[in-house]
Amino acid sequence: MKFHRQREEMVLRQIEARGVTDPKVLAAMRKVPRHLFVSEALMDQAYGDFPLPIGLQQTISQPYIVAEMTQALQLNAEDRVLEIGTGSGYQAAILAEIAYRVYTIERIHALLVKARHTFDRLHYHNIVTRYSDGTCGWAEESPFDAIVVTAGAPEIPKTLLSQLAVGGRMVIPVGDQFTQDLVKLHRDEDGIHRVSLGGCRFVKLVGEHGWEK
Ligand code: SAH
Repeated sequence: MKFHRQREEMVLRQIEARGVTDPKVLAAMRKVPRHLFVSEALMDQAYGDFPLPIGLQQTISQPYIVAEMTQALQLNAEDRVLEIGTGSGYQAAILAEIAYRVYTIERIHALLVKARHTFDRLHYHNIVTRYSDGTCGWAEESPFDAIVVTAGAPEIPKTLLSQLAVGGRMVIPVGDQFTQDLVKLHRDEDGIHRVSLGGCRFVKLVGEHGWEK
């Protein structure tokens, strides 16, 4: 009950108040129990307006950023989505509430094991996970209707762009290690169109087409 109330407050004050309007995104943020994606010691802070540590120097993103990125993906119930950076699994769960299937890749095994456990516990049967370098994407399952990268990249990995369907949308933070620009890409018959959604700060995307370490 306590967490339910905190989640309502989070949606009202942090997400709706800042202009997120997509009803599907708001419903998902109202439903997913964010406190179950953090350690027990941090549960009371799970609905605060900030990112939280999830171990191994990684973080679960601020609720508003999760909502903003999800809204920018313009998801439909038939969409197949690729996420790079499973982390706690929270963003994947939000995506799984809206889309048909979520393919999520994590490069730190211990985080992936924990996230898988949470997906099982909450019965997310439409989330498929993979332990590998997400900067190379998931060729066998491509093309994707939407791709979301939840770690900061030095530049947009071409491999990921090549796995985006025509009509597909991609959201990725691009910049240096301290601050990034949240970039939205849209692919149509004419090519790739790029818009900026504003500044953000993510942990590093580490991999063949990302940072070296
Ligand atoms: N979406 C996550 C946010 C996690 S933080 C959540 O909702 O909790 C970003 C995650 O990206 C970290 O767990 C980090 O290990 C992972 N990551 C960084 N580079 C990666 C890569 N090349 N492939 C897959 N995961 C990567």
